[in-house]
Amino acid sequence: MAAACSHLDQVEVTELPAEIPGCEDCLKIGGTWVHLRMCETCGHIGCCDNSPNRHATAHFHESSHPIIRSAEPGEDWSWCYVDEVAFALE
Ligand SMILES: [Zn+2]
Ligand SMILES: [Zn+2]
Ligand SMILES: [Zn+2]
Repeated sequence: MAAACSHLDQVEVTELPAEIPGCEDCLKIGGTWVHLRMCETCGHIGCCDNSPNRHATAHFHESSHPIIRSAEPGEDWSWCYVDEVAFALE
């Protein structure tokens, strides 16, 4: 698998929640999002960099949790912010 990322030991959550109401932070502030991403360390749901508030990236900067995955239906790619590499865990 994904040889280029050295942070796989920080992956705690790979399964998406059964229901995702939206970006957690946008829901708090009444924002809108384009695509959703899930933090694979703590399960935080944030919005992508095409969204106005970029909460997934903001979460990385706040928490130093390095890896997200797509929370979009049918997408299973992950992304490491530190190594800047995309890969699939499954
Ligand atoms: Zn990495
Ligand atoms: Zn958001
Ligand atoms: Zn996190």
